[in-house]
Amino acid sequence: MENSKNYFKKAIVDGGMDLFSQGLTVGTWGNLSIRDPETGLIYIKPSGMPYSDITEDDVVVMNHKFEVVEGHRKPSIEFNFHISIMNERPDVNVVIHTHPIYSSVFGVLNEDLPGISEDFVQIVGDRIINCDYALPGTPELAENVVKALGEKNAVMIPNHGTICVGGDFKAAMKIIFVVEKSAQIYILARSIGTPKLISEEDILAMQDFAKNHYGQGK
Ligand SMILES: [Zn+2]
Repeated sequence: MENSKNYFKKAIVDGGMDLFSQGLTVGTWGNLSIRDPETGLIYIKPSGMPYSDITEDDVVVMNHKFEVVEGHRKPSIEFNFHISIMNERPDVNVVIHTHPIYSSVFGVLNEDLPGISEDFVQIVGDRIINCDYALPGTPELAENVVKALGEKNAVMIPNHGTICVGGDFKAAMKIIFVVEKSAQIYILARSIGTPKLISEEDILAMQDFAKNHYGQGK
């Protein structure tokens, strides 16, 4: 038990540094949480601390009832949507919220980001949408986020940032990179022409392939 706690606390510290060093968020913004599937406990970044200052001792441990069960810091102000997403999606054990450049453009325009590439439609969803606006840290924002995320693996918050989810840290990071890459490509494509979108039929075929046939031994 203590071993697994140390493991997940370290994962929050290392994961935060990863986000920061890859330029996916700046300053103290953005936040991440990881759920231990064995115990159901949720490990989350402390509020308002620079990533480079956070040690394992600063990580806050919460339960599915939004209660702090361990830690001397205040949890990220966005604990509401982190825990609400995990409560709604048993397949999600990692929630990463960033303030990245390209997908945030769609949040500012309040426009959907359509699935324009194979990787996006296979692992993120047919498109990602903006949730309804609400102030940061509010239970209302958590409600809006869960509703707009649905079964997809990413959602945008208007005039704020992006949330990506996955079964583990690696999977959630992959979603972040595919979303950012797609947003960047779509912005560039629109700046010099009219992007051609993938048909609904082909999206479904690619999603089926990724789920049932892609990889070794399928
Ligand atoms: Zn934020």
